Amino acid sequence: MEGAIVGRCTHQGTTISIPIFYHTTFSEVYNEVCSRLSNLTHGLFDLTYALPGYSTCLLQSDMDVRMLYMSVVNEKYYCVDIVINQKSCRDNDRVSRNTPASQTFIIEGNIHSDGSEYLGKYATPGGKVYMSNSWKTYINHVNQGFEGGVEEFRDKLCKYAVEMGFTFVYVKNDRERVTAVCNKKYSEGCQWRVHASVCHVNNFFYIKRLNNEHTCTGRIREKKSGMMSSKIVASTIVEKIRTRPRIKPIDIVMDFKRDYGLDISYYNAWYGKEIAKTKVHGDDSLSYHQMVWYIEAIKKTNPGSHCELEFDQETFHFQRIFIAFCGSIEGFKFCRPMLFLDGTFLKDKYKGTLLAAIGKNGNQGFFPLAFALVDGEDQNNWTWFLKNLAKILEPQQRTITFISDRHKGLIPAVTNTFSDSPHAYCLHHIKLNILEKYPASLGSVFRNKIVQKFSECAYAATPEMYELKMAALVKEGGHIMRKFFKDLPKENFCNAFFKGKRYGEMWSNVAESFNAWISNERLLPIYQLVDGIRIKLMEMNAERHLEANKWTTFLCPEMEAEMVASIEVGRHWLVRRSSECVFEVQTDDTSLMVDLESQICSCQQWQIKGFPCSHALAAILKNGANPFDYTEAYFSTDYYKSSYSFPIQPIPQIDKPPMSEDTEFIVKPPKTRKQPGRPRIKRIKSAGEEARPLECGRCHQVGHHNQRTCSVLI
Ligand SMILES: [Zn+2]
Ligand SMILES: [Zn+2]
Ligand SMILES: [Zn+2]
Repeated sequence: MEGAIVGRCTHQGTTISIPIFYHTTFSEVYNEVCSRLSNLTHGLFDLTYALPGYSTCLLQSDMDVRMLYMSVVNEKYYCVDIVINQKSCRDNDRVSRNTPASQTFIIEGNIHSDGSEYLGKYATPGGKVYMSNSWKTYINHVNQGFEGGVEEFRDKLCKYAVEMGFTFVYVKNDRERVTAVCNKKYSEGCQWRVHASVCHVNNFFYIKRLNNEHTCTGRIREKKSGMMSSKIVASTIVEKIRTRPRIKPIDIVMDFKRDYGLDISYYNAWYGKEIAKTKVHGDDSLSYHQMVWYIEAIKKTNPGSHCELEFDQETFHFQRIFIAFCGSIEGFKFCRPMLFLDGTFLKDKYKGTLLAAIGKNGNQGFFPLAFALVDGEDQNNWTWFLKNLAKILEPQQRTITFISDRHKGLIPAVTNTFSDSPHAYCLHHIKLNILEKYPASLGSVFRNKIVQKFSECAYAATPEMYELKMAALVKEGGHIMRKFFKDLPKENFCNAFFKGKRYGEMWSNVAESFNAWISNERLLPIYQLVDGIRIKLMEMNAERHLEANKWTTFLCPEMEAEMVASIEVGRHWLVRRSSECVFEVQTDDTSLMVDLESQICSCQQWQIKGFPCSHALAAILKNGANPFDYTEAYFSTDYYKSSYSFPIQPIPQIDKPPMSEDTEFIVKPPKTRKQPGRPRIKRIKSAGEEARPLECGRCHQVGHHNQRTCSVLI
C-alpha cells in the first residue's frame, strides 16, 4: 500500500487538500484540518466522508482513517471529500440538538465565499444527521459509473441536486446521453454542468465531463425542492414498501420530513408509493400469467397438491384458481372433520375475492386447508370451489361439518356438493342479520335483548329447551322474528337439532383470524399473494411442528388446561354408580346422568363439544378410569404433531423463466365484473363547492369516482 490519496476538506469557502497515507493517524488529519481552516475549534467538530454507493462514515479513529484509505484505493479513486460537521456550542444541551428540522437549514461546506456570507446568519451549527446526507456524494467525479444505466443516473442526479440545494435543467436527456446544467446558467451564468453517457459494453452510465463547482449564489438546501418528484420518492421508499406494504401516503410525507428534512406533497407520496409498489411486486397485470408457471412449480415441488387454474380458452382472460398444498391436505387428516368456509374481498386492482376452507388444529388454532381466487362470491364460484375441495377430501372418507356465514351463494353449493355434510351457520353473522331487521330507532336495549334471546335458542341443547326459548323470543320479537325463522332451518343453527359434530364451534371466527393473518398479502398482486400465503403456511407449519416437539402434555396444552379446570370444578361433587357405565352426578344445585359407554351427559355438552364436560370427568374419575381415554384423538399432542409433520416445500423462484413475448399465449388479467350493490349516485354539491375533476387511479378516467369506488370494466 504505497502512495497517498488526497482528502479534500472545505469550510466557509476555503478548501484544503490533505495527503493521507496508509499509516496516517486520525490526530494528524484532525489537527491539520483544525489548524489550517479558520473558525474551527478543536473538539467542537467531527469529520465524516462518503464514497459513492456507500453510506456516510464517521472519521474518529486511526482505524477509520485506514479504512478510508483502503476503500478509496480499492475503488480506484484518488481523492475523497471529507465533510466537517460542527457540533453545537452547547453540545450537551439536548434541546438545541433536537431543533425541529423545519427550523434547521443545512449549510453545505463548499459554498463560495460571497454566498456563504449571505447564508452565514442562518446557519445553525450541528443538528441532526439526515438520511439524505449521503446524497451529496452521488455526483462525484469523472468516470463515475452507474450500473443501473440512465435511470440510476437521473435518480442520483435529482437526489444530489435536492441535497446540494440547486435545481438543474436537462440540455439533453435520452437513453444514450444526459447533459444537465445549473438552472442559473442563464440568469447568473453558473458553470455547473454534468455530462454522462451510456457504455454499450455493459449499459452502465458513466460521467464523462463534470464541472461540479457552482458560481451562482444562494444555494441552500431547501426543504421543498423542485427536484423532488414522485420517481425520486419511489426510489427512496422502495425498501420500505417491501417491508411495510400498508404504509399510508401521509406517513411517507412524515417520514420524509423526519428522516430527510424534506417536504413532499401528498400527491408525490401517494404516486411515489404506487410506483414503488410496481417496482417491488411487478406489474399487476403480468402477475396472472406467472400463475401458469407457478401451478406447474407447485406440482413439481409439492407433489400431491391440488391446483386448478382456469382461464378463458379464447381470450386468455384469467378466471379462477384453486390451491391446496399437499402438506395441508395430509395434515388435515389429523384435524377434526370440520371446515370453516369464508369469502373475503381482495384489495388489488382487479378486486377479486379469496375463498378459503379453514380447519382447526387440536390446540384450537386455525389450520388452512385450501384457498381460491375468484371474481366474486356467488353460487357458481362456491360450487366450483367445493367440487375441488371434494376431490381432496373424498380419499379421507370423513363426513365434514361446514360452518359458514350463510352467504346465499354458499348454501345451495354446500347442499349440492356435500349432500351428507351438516352445515352450521355462524351465530355471529345471524345476530348481525337480526340486528338489520330491527330498526335502530327501537333502541339498543331492545335490540340487544332480542339478539341475546336468539343466542339462547342457538345454544339450546335439547328440543324442549329450544321450544321454550324460541317461544319467548317470538313473543318478544313479534312478526319480524316469526318471518326471520321461516327461512332459517333450526338444524342449521341450533345445537339440539344439529346433525353432526361442530365441536361447540358457534362462530366462524377462525375464518376471520385467517383473513387478518394474511392482511398484508391481500394487498398484493395475485402471484405475490398466492406465494405469500404459501410462505406463511410453510413457516407456520414448521414453527408449530418444532413447538409441539417441546410439549410434554398428553393433550394439546389448551385442551389439557381446559380439562384440568373442568376436573377442578367437580372435585366436591357426589358421584353415584347406577350400572357399570352409568353414573348420577350430584352437583351443587342439580343432578345429571352420565353414560361413559355412549359418551353422553344429560347436560349435552359432551355430545356437542366432543370433549368431556365436568360431570363426565367426575364420573370417569369415580370409575377409576383415565380421562384421556375419553377424549378424541384430534385433541392429542400426537395428532397435533402429525398434522404439522407434512412440510410445505419451498418453490425456488430461480427456476422461473423470464417473461418473454414469444410464449404461445399470455394469461391476461380477469375481465372484472360490475361490483354488486346500487350504483353510486352523484353527491349534491353544497353551495360554493367547486367540482374538481378527479382522475381515477385505476381506470384513469377523469370523472365521477376514485380508485376505491371504481367499478369500470378494465
Ligand atoms: Zn449553479
Ligand atoms: Zn355434563
Ligand atoms: Zn375507475
